[in-house]
Amino acid sequence: MENLDWKNLGFGYRKTGDNVRCYFRNGQWGELEISSSEFINIHISATALHYGQEAFEGLKAFKGKDGKVRIFRMDENAKRMQDSCDGILMQKLPVEKFMEAVHLAVKKNIEFVPPYESGAALYIRPLLIGTGPQIGVKPAEEYLFIVFVMPVGPYFPEGFKPTDLVIMRKYDRAAPQGTGKYKVGGNYAASLVEGEKAKEGGFSAVLYLDSKEKKYIDECGPANFFGIKNNTYITPLSDSILPSITNKSIMKLAEGMGLKVERRKVPYEELSDFEEVGACGTAAVISPIKRIYDADYDVEFNYGSEPGKWSTKLYNKLRAIQYGDAPDNYGWVRFVE
Ligand SMILES: *Cc1c(COP(=O)(O)O)cnc(C)c1O
Repeated sequence: MENLDWKNLGFGYRKTGDNVRCYFRNGQWGELEISSSEFINIHISATALHYGQEAFEGLKAFKGKDGKVRIFRMDENAKRMQDSCDGILMQKLPVEKFMEAVHLAVKKNIEFVPPYESGAALYIRPLLIGTGPQIGVKPAEEYLFIVFVMPVGPYFPEGFKPTDLVIMRKYDRAAPQGTGKYKVGGNYAASLVEGEKAKEGGFSAVLYLDSKEKKYIDECGPANFFGIKNNTYITPLSDSILPSITNKSIMKLAEGMGLKVERRKVPYEELSDFEEVGACGTAAVISPIKRIYDADYDVEFNYGSEPGKWSTKLYNKLRAIQYGDAPDNYGWVRFVE
């Protein structure tokens, strides 16, 4: 295995070994196929290219002290991709097939799973696209599912570090009854303008309010939002939020630590009451937030430059389960055989 600088990988595309593919043709899913190519050859009229029939997933595999490789909650990603398929009328890949493909992709690239000491992980990217040709607006008759992987560095190489978010009411990520709750590329295309603007201003992401009334907190561009106060973990309930598996896991762990957990509408005004706030998702697990800047009213909410007590506990606990340092009491981990 080439000598990768495991600690300074960052988060970006990197060529690894084989990827796994599966085609839906003639009304059925075929067998899993192995490919060493980074490219696909698709029809110029594929629905993914014109009408956005595209959904993706993101999950990670971790190498433990014991040398074993663990994949975190891939059944949840499999189910969520099925929900995305329902949302944009794509053929659903069976959950078992999804898990088999992920397992195979990791196994084929086992030498790319970063060592335990590095704090890095193997990022797994499943992707499903409409490949059948259509020029009228309707769902494709053919689909391609791909899983590829790449090692990614620790999200916080210098340690768990709080960042800043920005609120800009001029932009919506998703419509209230739209596709916000599905993990589809279209949502991301729609968020690039404000995402880049946020980065130019030194913010890590946009914090979106609900698109209809701009009264409640929705989520961050690529991560869910939570706030903690009075020993209560609070995360927004909304039809346009992507149901984060990390958030779902943290809610379980929070309960286990004796925190109350509330999933409900979170009014904007409540931002001034939280003792800790954070963003959560597969990439960072938890990004503590030190400041939320409301660019429309030039108001800011400050939460201190050190990660909060509960955020730190939750972060450490979830990472410990992922790396096998803490017992997997909820059955979240699958070993790569
Ligand atoms: C993927 C994603 C998340 C995080 O979900 P995880 O399952 O925790 O990785 C949050 N918000 C959006 C919009 C996402 O696409």
